[in-house]
Amino acid sequence: MDTQFCYVCNDVVKLEVDKYCYKPYGDGGKPTEETKYRHFWHGVPGITRAVGGGGGFNGYAKTLEQARQRAEYYIQSNPYAAPEVKAGEQAVLDEVNRLEALDKESN
Ligand SMILES: [Zn+2]
Repeated sequence: MDTQFCYVCNDVVKLEVDKYCYKPYGDGGKPTEETKYRHFWHGVPGITRAVGGGGGFNGYAKTLEQARQRAEYYIQSNPYAAPEVKAGEQAVLDEVNRLEALDKESN
């Protein structure tokens, strides 16, 4: 299975099953040797500024619990969050739910 280390938490990103983001994009938008990966659920730091902050969330979510709190905040409690922000945070929430379910199975 293809794996990479996440540049936010240093844990393994399983490219075939985990949702992830990567940077920078090489020519044609394809990953290169310099491309770094992170788990999708860490979220997008820029969102916090884009929707006017609030909720005390800055930068990447460091834990699944933080990611869940942030996603639920934007989806349910922030009237300024744009539809695409809410959709993105819903995707984060879906991924958190998936990973937590996996966690329970393995314990
Ligand atoms: Zn990570």
